[in-house]
Amino acid sequence: MSLVQKISIFGATGSIGTSTLALIFANPSAYEVIAITAEKNVKELAKIALKTKAKYAVIADKSLHQTLQNLLQGAKTIALSGRDGLLEAAKIHVDIVVSAVVGLAGLEVTYAAIPYCKKLALANKESIVAAGEQILSLAHQHGTKILPVDSEHSAIFQVFEETNRAHLHKLILTASGGPFRQLPAAEFAHISVEKALKHPNWKMGAKITIDCATLANKGLELIEAALLFNVPADQIDVVVHPESIIHSLVAYQDGSTLAQLGMPDMRTAISYALSWPNRCATSVQPLNLADIRNLSFEAPDLERFPALRLARESLIRGQTQRIIFNTANEIAVDHFLNGTISFMGISKIIEQLLEKTSSKPLSTIEDIVDFDQQLRLKTKEMITQITF
Ligand code: NAD
Ligand code: MG
Repeated sequence: MSLVQKISIFGATGSIGTSTLALIFANPSAYEVIAITAEKNVKELAKIALKTKAKYAVIADKSLHQTLQNLLQGAKTIALSGRDGLLEAAKIHVDIVVSAVVGLAGLEVTYAAIPYCKKLALANKESIVAAGEQILSLAHQHGTKILPVDSEHSAIFQVFEETNRAHLHKLILTASGGPFRQLPAAEFAHISVEKALKHPNWKMGAKITIDCATLANKGLELIEAALLFNVPADQIDVVVHPESIIHSLVAYQDGSTLAQLGMPDMRTAISYALSWPNRCATSVQPLNLADIRNLSFEAPDLERFPALRLARESLIRGQTQRIIFNTANEIAVDHFLNGTISFMGISKIIEQLLEKTSSKPLSTIEDIVDFDQQLRLKTKEMITQITF
């Protein structure tokens, strides 16, 4: 690889996108920004384009094309829009693609970009959950290295000894437990959107913050870990660790357990993905264990947080169920955020959709995207018929 890394960021205006850009701005001579994308936040996208001198800026919402073009007047950045624009940007040769769109909306671009990049820094876990087999196979075919950005998977990636795979005991994913870790079951019926959006340790986009509160996020991560590291469900445990200092662990059969630790700041995991196989300095606060003093752990409560149980069951049952879990969750979270359903309604919707949908042979990305679209309609219809 050359010294200057060509980089494209899909989902540049989001939480992961912003942290990625902060790393780039801290080390500007190391990167050349090729493409940046956003869904609707056209002003922020244009601002980033002007600051990074990106070659392409893509706004997913086609109706904002002219606005983007106006905002970029006089700059060299080319404005693109819509699905075609996103796919065009994905097909530009770069060293690194950062996949940081939220939800299954990130699948097509992530998949399209694989043949055109050397490293895929993957934050968009929903793509792996739904289409892990297809993504990994394409990456293998093109020699593209997938580098996990999710902090747990980055941690595992950093301490997993591929040569000792046969002596692996377990992968252990840590979970903060979210804002309702200690909330009594009886109070779950009254959880407000505002409270659910207050994560104790991490600052993230709205969807993943709700996923952390329901533990659906840990469920998605359990599936993500199984696929990325090719480890069966019964060899992956989840432990609640409220301080979010240990980002995950790998236990070997000789009794040794290796962990990766750090302050809860996504820049560490993103930096590792961008600079792998090397490391790079960041301004992340160094870990001071004497100040932190205590690290605590407990088992997750699957009664109050059924989404984690449903994710494990989906993982065991196969790809169709994983897609149903993911899509039902995405739609349910949207409805919770706009006040149409309750907090506990989210896992009820996932459970009902899993019960009411049968398996389907899915082989291509198109099959998966079509199936996801059908599931979206089915979930929305279900929500209008039953009170959750
Ligand atoms: P976010 O909501 O802050 O940002 C999402 C980005 O995707 C934005 O740039 C938005 O414009 C774009 N986007 C949204 N919908 C789109 C669509 N339909 N088409 C095209 N672009 C679209 O989300 P985030 O918190 O940055 O999370 C991004 C991904 O990273 C998610 O998959 C999440 O699970 C994962 N992740 C996030 C964190 C974190 O700390 N935020 C940690 C680990 C993993
Ligand atoms: Mg995570």
